[in-house]
Amino acid sequence: MENFKIDVDADGIALITFDVPGRSMNTLTSGVMKEIPEWVEQVKADDAVKGVVLTSGKASGFCAGADLGDMAGGMLGGSDLQAAYDAGWRLNGALRALETCGKPVAAAINGLALGGGLELTLACHYRVVENDNRIQLGLPEIKVGLFPGGGGTQRLTRLIGVQPAMMAMTEGKSFRPNDAKGAGIVHEVVEKGQSVEAAKTWIKTRVAAGGKAVQPWDDKGFKLPGGGPYHPAGIQNFLVGNAMIRKQTYGNYPAATNLMKAVYEGVQVPMDAALRIETRYFIKTLMTPQAQGMIRSLFLSKQELDKGAVRPAGAPKSDAKKVTVIGAGMMGAGIAYVQAMAGIETILIDQTQDAADKGKAHVEELLKKRLSRGQMTQEKYDTTLALVTATTDYDHIKGSDLVIEAVFENREIKADVTRRAEVQLAEGAVFGSNTSTLPITGLAEASVRPEDFIGIHFFSPVDKMMLVEIIMGEKTSQAALAKAIDYVLKIKKTPIVVNDSRGFYTSRCFGTYVAEGLAMLEEGYAPALIDNIGRMTGMPRGPLEMHDDVALDLSLKVAKQTQADLGDAYTPLPGADIVRKMVEDLGRYGRKNGKGFYDYDTKPKTLWAGLSDLAPVKINDSTPELVEDQKQRLLYRQAVEVAKCWAEGVIDDPREADVGAILAWGFAPWTGGPITFMDQTGLKAFVAQADDYAARYGERFQVPQLLRDMAAKGETFYGRFAPEKKAA
Ligand code: NAD
Repeated sequence: MENFKIDVDADGIALITFDVPGRSMNTLTSGVMKEIPEWVEQVKADDAVKGVVLTSGKASGFCAGADLGDMAGGMLGGSDLQAAYDAGWRLNGALRALETCGKPVAAAINGLALGGGLELTLACHYRVVENDNRIQLGLPEIKVGLFPGGGGTQRLTRLIGVQPAMMAMTEGKSFRPNDAKGAGIVHEVVEKGQSVEAAKTWIKTRVAAGGKAVQPWDDKGFKLPGGGPYHPAGIQNFLVGNAMIRKQTYGNYPAATNLMKAVYEGVQVPMDAALRIETRYFIKTLMTPQAQGMIRSLFLSKQELDKGAVRPAGAPKSDAKKVTVIGAGMMGAGIAYVQAMAGIETILIDQTQDAADKGKAHVEELLKKRLSRGQMTQEKYDTTLALVTATTDYDHIKGSDLVIEAVFENREIKADVTRRAEVQLAEGAVFGSNTSTLPITGLAEASVRPEDFIGIHFFSPVDKMMLVEIIMGEKTSQAALAKAIDYVLKIKKTPIVVNDSRGFYTSRCFGTYVAEGLAMLEEGYAPALIDNIGRMTGMPRGPLEMHDDVALDLSLKVAKQTQADLGDAYTPLPGADIVRKMVEDLGRYGRKNGKGFYDYDTKPKTLWAGLSDLAPVKINDSTPELVEDQKQRLLYRQAVEVAKCWAEGVIDDPREADVGAILAWGFAPWTGGPITFMDQTGLKAFVAQADDYAARYGERFQVPQLLRDMAAKGETFYGRFAPEKKAA
């Protein structure tokens, strides 16, 4: 065997060490899945083996779960259902054989155990975990459109009860060692490095007591904790659970529904049948377009981008050690925090010492939170905070590898800051702008070295949002791009690279969602209907709510700026006058002043009653057909803009377009992103539907010629613009 080593000691305890060669972390690759049944058979058949301890040979963790690359690559049998079921059953059958082998089996969990990694240990009779707060135990499959398919749905439920297990699985929640013990997921927490010894000690006590070991659920008197569907308390879990899943997913995620079905049906039958039920639902889920799209975008593509897939080939690797942030407001302070967390010396400049200090105080506040949650030691807190210098003095910029400006969104102020900063910069140092709307090529005109000028667009709140949109100006060099990407990777965020355009990629496409909600308002759709339909598409919030969050005055300002820049070419968007009246006549700016489409003086917020005077309601009826049509309308409008960005060369890599859309503006994750949405719909059908919307709602739904050409040839984005082809 390649991935497992077996050592039988003098007491007859077989220590199985899981160590996938050539990988930094253990995952359940196709090779591993093949070998698990082999060692299970071996320890079962060998009379000299009295008990089994399973542990990991990696310092990085126990096992991070299934190898999704292998899985997406058809490891489970492609589209042949029976072959896929058989492949899926291989692991479940082997783990079932392990837990019924009659010999005691213990897991010595010496690092994180997630997904299939935790499921391996759940098939052991005893679990010991080391006391290290970096260790997480959990079943996060739901985050990539799947659910646990290695017995997790059945074993966790039987261990801790339907409600806690369903919550852990539907949220993909992970537990620290002591919390896992508290929840009943593991039996024992021991000091670091002691898990194998502790597991062996347990085996010896079992052997001394006669050697038998059975799982609680194979015991005759087993009762499901909290009760099953025919128990008065248990039935509540399913009734409420069903409603909660519906509320959270609007039926967009087959994984969540199938998970519930697997649990509901599985807990009513013995374990062998339960595992077969789980495997069937798992394979069914894996074959859905939703799971395929989510695995590709949210796992595989994101991982590739996180490894620098879009970094210019051949550019020397850089390591930003000192970075200056100018503008210590909301964004600047957030950027300073993530930099300091990555060990970067940070100069934080503002106009007054007071403003700069305020920015540093925000960094301190975020660090204190980590300290109080035990996520950081006092020593690390002190050294991290000491990396940030708050000042007004531009001389401090000297020696910086990079400067990022996050001053007011004003061309003149940004130009002034650029000039003052550049005189302090050494050759090769990069100047980045965090502007959210101003084209980079125009801002670079203030620079004496536009080849080193680049857009580095963070999202708010900076500490939580994982994406950074890098924008190339007309003259930005590949060397500056490589340095910007290296910086983004160093602060552990996901970079996408786009070309200059009004609103770049993310703000431009997100804006269409908000604007389409406004168009619906003008057409007379009831505001509650608009936002409910928005949420039902799988977007995080409705378009009116999101408009309030962004701020109506900001949206008016952007519209006016666009009008001034475009002149005659500007076409006002439907509903624009409603926003103008709300801001200019009524002082309703959105969430920030507690008054927008919603009133915020109540909890939860309530729709503003005066809205119907500005936009009289004509459509208040929500038939399923209308809802479906309008849901698609909101998704199509965004996807059409993405296609336009593609045709204009703003984006050119499907991975960046999909991952960027989900991480930046929450484009319905179940779709796998807008490009996957178009590809899976089929471009021919997509174009036909977009044409229908264009006829009903206007030019903005008009798809670019590129899409028509691709549709005529039966092409897909991922087929025609496959990332591998681009790299070759
Ligand atoms: P903010 O008003 O909170 O902060 C701006 C800071 O810049 C203030 O502290 C101000 O004193 C300082 N400043 C102004 N002129 C300066 C000068 N000449 N020298 C030094 N400091 C100066 O604004 P913010 O929300 O942090 O936005 C900053 C930039 O980031 C803007 O370009 C904005 O478009 C962009 N941005 C904002 C968001 C967001 O959600 N707020 C998201 C992405 C990008």
